[in-house]
Amino acid sequence: MPATYEFKAEIKQLLDILVNSLYTEREIFLRELVSNASDALDKLRIETAAHADAASGDEPLEIRIEADKDKKLLTITDNGVGMTEAELVENIGTIAHSGSASFLKALKDAGKAGAEGIIGRFGVGFYSVYMVAGSVRIVTRSHREGSPVVEWVSDGQGAYSIRELAPGDGEAGEGIARGTRIEVSLKADLAEEFTNPETLRRIIRKHSNFVSFPILVAGERANTVPALWREPKFQITKEQYKEFYSFLTYDQDEPLDTLHLSVDAPVQFSSLCFIPQKSRDFLGFDREDWGLDLYVRRVLIQRQNKDLIPQYLMFVRGVVDTEDLPLNISRETLQDNLLIRKINATLTKQILAQLTKMAEDKDKYAGFWREHSRVFKAGYMDFVNREAFAGLLRFNSSASDKADDLVSFEEYIARAKPDQKKIYYAYGPSREALALSPHLEIFRKKGVEVLYLYEPIDEFVMDALQTFKDFALTPAELAKADDLAKLPDVEAAAKDDSAPAPEKDALEALFVRVKAVLGDAVTDVRASARLTGSPCCLVNPDGHTTSSMDKIMRAMNRDTTVPKKILELNPGHELVRNLAELNARDAADPFVEQAARQLYESALLLEGYLSDPHALVGRVQDLLTKSSGWYAKTK
Ligand code: ADP
Ligand code: MG
Repeated sequence: MPATYEFKAEIKQLLDILVNSLYTEREIFLRELVSNASDALDKLRIETAAHADAASGDEPLEIRIEADKDKKLLTITDNGVGMTEAELVENIGTIAHSGSASFLKALKDAGKAGAEGIIGRFGVGFYSVYMVAGSVRIVTRSHREGSPVVEWVSDGQGAYSIRELAPGDGEAGEGIARGTRIEVSLKADLAEEFTNPETLRRIIRKHSNFVSFPILVAGERANTVPALWREPKFQITKEQYKEFYSFLTYDQDEPLDTLHLSVDAPVQFSSLCFIPQKSRDFLGFDREDWGLDLYVRRVLIQRQNKDLIPQYLMFVRGVVDTEDLPLNISRETLQDNLLIRKINATLTKQILAQLTKMAEDKDKYAGFWREHSRVFKAGYMDFVNREAFAGLLRFNSSASDKADDLVSFEEYIARAKPDQKKIYYAYGPSREALALSPHLEIFRKKGVEVLYLYEPIDEFVMDALQTFKDFALTPAELAKADDLAKLPDVEAAAKDDSAPAPEKDALEALFVRVKAVLGDAVTDVRASARLTGSPCCLVNPDGHTTSSMDKIMRAMNRDTTVPKKILELNPGHELVRNLAELNARDAADPFVEQAARQLYESALLLEGYLSDPHALVGRVQDLLTKSSGWYAKTK
């Protein structure tokens, strides 16, 4: 006689909820049953290793899935450890550590969306089968010697029955020498879907692809790609890595680099990561499409988990597998999980170390930099790995031959001038523009290298880092002229430079006049030590904000005013000399006033602050008219 058992009251409620409310991702019931089968096979493997007698027969360990559309029957069979009657009662009949009351509460709080994770969190994986089943029959025989076949049946409505299938029953064998068969009688409306072998294979590939035992759907193996990350490195060929990579990413190219890790401390995990050759970050399109796939013992827990690596390494594709998490941890729990954070910290260090190694091969690293640097640069916020991050940065520089040549901080330092404890940089739209920047004239003259920044984020990077080794990262625009003036010249003095400077008094008078003309638009007018070829430039009086950074801040604050700066005039420049002379002759000469405005606005234009060019253009035309008249007379 079969014994009939009542489920506990809470479990009745629970089953009711499972059946009636949890309709998100119904298909995960198969993942749960396959995982249980895989666990049973694993347990057997461990037992076999421990006791030579535990193995009965030498049939391969596998999971078989058969479907019968007409009978609306789905069968999942494994030849794992199986269960005794007592184990059936204990493992299936009781919901292990469910704490049903809190389960019900959590379920209510989470609403439908969170349900998928909750099923597992409370160790009720098996019961997810009632999302699709009208009734379930388990036929199982424990691997322990002399164990009988036991049957468990329940419609999930409140009771289950168990009986031993005695040899006399005629059903006893049922083809089960050892292991478990789960017979799922599908609900009528779901039978079509879940007896379709294609659907079943797709579900297996999606959730259980890397289960280490063969999963056969209607006799055909569904999980074809091995969980390469769990294999010893030395056994894996380049082709296998490539194959796995294209399986993972659909990318037909070889990966640029591969990182295969097996870590035991501070957390246990294995990981197989790839850096693709090409960036997928097209114009910031689809910013959500990143993350590592998280597995627990080869079973997929979450695709594209974004807590396993920092966002600035989002170009890394791959998987992480840990034994230290429960199989069915919910997403909410994952997000704030200490273990995941530890994996993240370890992985980040390893990826940065891998990139550092890659950088020894300049061409390869240039390829990486071209594709992934835009994303990577956001790592300036990773203070923990600041040094490794800074070591991986590359810039074009005034010492480069071409616009795509790359320089590291290390290289810059190696050729810095003696006592030059600064790394200078300048932001500009292009190499050509920077080569013409008045701010860089002194650097050219002294042969001091300047890193060229072409993207706004570069300045944020420099601002955040502040130093590299004991070198202060310093905008060229804000360099102290004195620091540079003491260095010997390397560039022959420009033509204008050789002209005699005007009398000190005449020069001072000119500065006063120019300041009077420009009024509050500038904070001061003074002689420049940083210019060689240009007549003037603007310098930020606060000494620590570059004009490009200032513009970003203003844009963010919707501030359209023009900042007040110091106008520096080059006393060695012919134009400045002429103006000083004119001003000395006639302190009210309108030409000086016109020229002062023109110089100021041209400097603004160069710095990108001039919003209305009308006045400037009008003045240029006026000046051209005057000079052409003069030119016509001398011709
Ligand atoms: P969990 O897998 O988290 O323990 P489940 O509800 O999925 O929770 O399964 C409950 C228990 O039932 C398992 O721990 C295991 O002891 C037993 N069990 C389920 N399926 C099988 C199987 N195919 N073979 C042997 N034991 C099983
Ligand atoms: Mg389970």
